[in-house]
Amino acid sequence: MVDPIELTKATEEYACRRKDDIVYRRYWRFRGGKWYGGIATADCVGCNLRCIFCGPSLTWMRLSDKGEFRGPIYVVKRLTSIAMARGYRYLRISGGEPTICFDHLLSVLELAEKYPFTFILETNGILIGANEWMAKELARFKNIHVRVSIKGTSPEEFEKLTLADRIYFRYQIDALKHLYDHNVSFHPAIVASFSTEQDIIELINELKNIHTEIGRSVEIEYIILYRHVIESLRKHNVIPKKAYTTSWELITEEEARHLISNQV
Ligand code: SF4
Repeated sequence: MVDPIELTKATEEYACRRKDDIVYRRYWRFRGGKWYGGIATADCVGCNLRCIFCGPSLTWMRLSDKGEFRGPIYVVKRLTSIAMARGYRYLRISGGEPTICFDHLLSVLELAEKYPFTFILETNGILIGANEWMAKELARFKNIHVRVSIKGTSPEEFEKLTLADRIYFRYQIDALKHLYDHNVSFHPAIVASFSTEQDIIELINELKNIHTEIGRSVEIEYIILYRHVIESLRKHNVIPKKAYTTSWELITEEEARHLISNQV
């Protein structure tokens, strides 16, 4: 069973490096992308969950010797040059969990604030839930929006999907509370591919109890059945109730079962 806090420490051993007061992080790719209508993306190495539906290549995400250490100046230069060349409005760090190596992230945000772009912080929320001070730090930046991707709709589902202990499900909800309390721009996304409609409604109602606006701003996220995601789901014997194919067709549980059973 994964302990995300312990896994954060282990990940920081190989994904972060401090030298002369600068924190470097391993990255495996810089790219443009179509999400949010166009966003410059730096794909970092390392995460503190082990989601069985993870989109980025699991090999790149988890192998400790992959990617290159990059400092905040390099990262912001690459992101802003991609965004300017392609006319994008948004920047992000993706591919792993950006709140690992938090000092590195803060330095990137400080530098990015000098540019006319919005930084989308996509996170699983675990560390922000565990450390309220992180939300307070993020509140310093006016050009960020945090998207907290909640894995499943219950502690049991969270454990099945992330391989992490179910007690950490609450940390994601706590992250929303901390961000709300510190007035950070954010919204929750629920990975709903494995949930019933009733499960989703119940979680949204719970979020509305924290604040109506939080419940109202929920994004419903369905996984994409890339080849490596199909292989992982087959290995774990899990079939999504709804998912996208790589050609963006939203398919049912039966169609997903057929696709997962028949892909060679
Ligand atoms: S939290 Fe995101 S990056 Fe980490 S394993 Fe899950 S899907 Fe992959």
